[in-house]
Amino acid sequence: AEPGGKRILCVGLVCLDIISVVEAYPAEDTDTRCLSQRWQRGGNASNSCTVLALLGAPCAFMGSLAPGHAADFVLADLRRRGVDVRHAVLQPGGHMPTSVVIASASRGTRTILHASGCVAALTLLSVPQVSSVSRPAQPPGQPDRVILRAGSGWGWGPTPAPPPRRATLICAWAEEGADAMGPGGELVHADACPPETLVDTLGAGDTFNAAVIFALSGGQSLQDALNFGCRIAGKKCGIQGYDGIV
Ligand code: ADP
Repeated sequence: AEPGGKRILCVGLVCLDIISVVEAYPAEDTDTRCLSQRWQRGGNASNSCTVLALLGAPCAFMGSLAPGHAADFVLADLRRRGVDVRHAVLQPGGHMPTSVVIASASRGTRTILHASGCVAALTLLSVPQVSSVSRPAQPPGQPDRVILRAGSGWGWGPTPAPPPRRATLICAWAEEGADAMGPGGELVHADACPPETLVDTLGAGDTFNAAVIFALSGGQSLQDALNFGCRIAGKKCGIQGYDGIV
């Protein structure tokens, strides 16, 4: 069922993550045996689709892929999760973006080496072309909620560019939880919910984003949405991958 007929569209990156799980992060120029190694579908928009699907929200992915084994793998994995991929665009001639991830089992850290692909970037500007899927209440460029990345240059103080007027700003701070500023300037905070053992923080931010979007789209308050985001993201940090976050 699609509550209110709404489907959540995630626009952005899908990539292949090649993840080597090691006991401890290795020193340079050493030889280490991995505890395990796996291919995993990655990319911010694609990860958030995984989480939305696990939360039971109908969702769709929109982004570019370059045809080949990696694209087959990630498309099959999106479909396996029940994500609508009709807006995924295969662009011949490019390379799939791939990341090599060193995941430390003892500390739960993830060290990521990105290789961006040559696929043309899809931007939010292309969203109006799918107005039959998503009809934003406001014209593009005037979002009513913005989730910022820590370290992106934005802050609660003076900002390099003025934030969109009357937008709700949301920002996660890893083990320090998350903060938000509502349209009237009101501040909201949620503490992180650390798991008993930190296992895998890869995609914690994408998990947080998806859970917050899910809660807000269900009509929950900003405070409840932040709490929910931290709870689901914390649960994710206690397991490898995404199965078991709900
Ligand atoms: P990313 O680095 O993937 O962008 P963040 O570091 O912004 O993710 O974290 C997003 C959310 O995930 C945080 O708000 C928090 O709820 C949860 N989280 C991340 N790291 C931890 C951690 N070490 N312990 C507990 N929760 C965490």
